[in-house]
Amino acid sequence: MRPSPSRVAPGLPDFPFTVEALDGEARAGLLETPRGAVSTPCFMPVGTKGTVKGMAPDRLKALGAQVVLANTYHLAMRPGSETVQALGGLHRFMGWDRPILTDSGGFQVFSLQDTAQVRDDGVAFRSVYDGSPQLFTPERSMAEQRALGADIIMCFDECPPGGAPRDAVARAVERTRRWAAACAQQHARSGGEGTDGPQMLLGIVQGGVHADLRRESVEGLLALGFPGYAIGGLSVGEDREETFAVTAATAALLPADRVRYFMGIGDPRGLLRAIERGVDLFDCVLPTRTARMGTAFTSQGRLNLRNARHARSREPLDEDCDCPACRQFTRGAIRHFVQQGEILGLQLLTEHNLRFLFRMVRGAREAILAGRFAKFESGWDGAW
Ligand SMILES: [Zn+2]
Repeated sequence: MRPSPSRVAPGLPDFPFTVEALDGEARAGLLETPRGAVSTPCFMPVGTKGTVKGMAPDRLKALGAQVVLANTYHLAMRPGSETVQALGGLHRFMGWDRPILTDSGGFQVFSLQDTAQVRDDGVAFRSVYDGSPQLFTPERSMAEQRALGADIIMCFDECPPGGAPRDAVARAVERTRRWAAACAQQHARSGGEGTDGPQMLLGIVQGGVHADLRRESVEGLLALGFPGYAIGGLSVGEDREETFAVTAATAALLPADRVRYFMGIGDPRGLLRAIERGVDLFDCVLPTRTARMGTAFTSQGRLNLRNARHARSREPLDEDCDCPACRQFTRGAIRHFVQQGEILGLQLLTEHNLRFLFRMVRGAREAILAGRFAKFESGWDGAW
């Protein structure tokens, strides 16, 4: 533990973050945003285009969602950040009065485009919506995120694909540092405010699976001074053991008093392993996307409802779950809805998968507070 708080660059809003308990490296914490406190560890569902598919905001709240993520790339293209701003900002737009996090657009720019050209000033690409030429720069990403008005926003970074050669990863680390400096400067210049209140800007660590490049990336960001840090560039196709070795090594370099966010992890075991290594925030489309493909997360592992053996099953999706799908419907009925493409089937499975993860992460938090996280985690052995 550091004796004094780590430094944040002047002009960057800093929401208080408290580590309430440590169990090994696992942390239970509290992030106090102007739109309410967030208990960590916290899994954030993804509302790519401004909605978590099929989930009305009050349903999300009832399930236990604390923060929702939205994608800057998609919203900047359709309907356009200025349109969202004209409609009252992202909270009003999404009908969500609790914290929202927007990504920088960087990940989509790199992952959705095979034509993206990375330049030192940004990334040139064609919109997936209409093929129009676009340029995302740190300045544009900040302007888009400012107009959208989320509470937590991200620096524009370069995320190289898994298996990228070392020199490409090294270049991405250097670009990411320079772009982070540009983002911090522009955000401070605009008073650290979006259209909808103060915005906490997080720096993103890159460096692939290379320990020395991760260190270099962390040091560059710490010299700038962010109120929180994200671990990016993982879950991009690297070996799973490497994912968690890099997570542990990177988390150990980050200041103990700042919130840590692993970008893009949402499988139950992966979440637990990242929590074990000292990460606080997570997001992923996995639970909601998996649901739309007809698969439920359960305490016994994955359950594929498309499998014919569930056709006459009177069991709930998961005996231990308290979600509406599990309280009111049999596996056989949900399977029928899914097979017929009924909207309700996809909604029920989405609600279930989110509830399942929220309860698991809440259980992890309680275990950390009670000093029994290792036991809690090993309780998932076999199923996941
Ligand atoms: Zn359920």
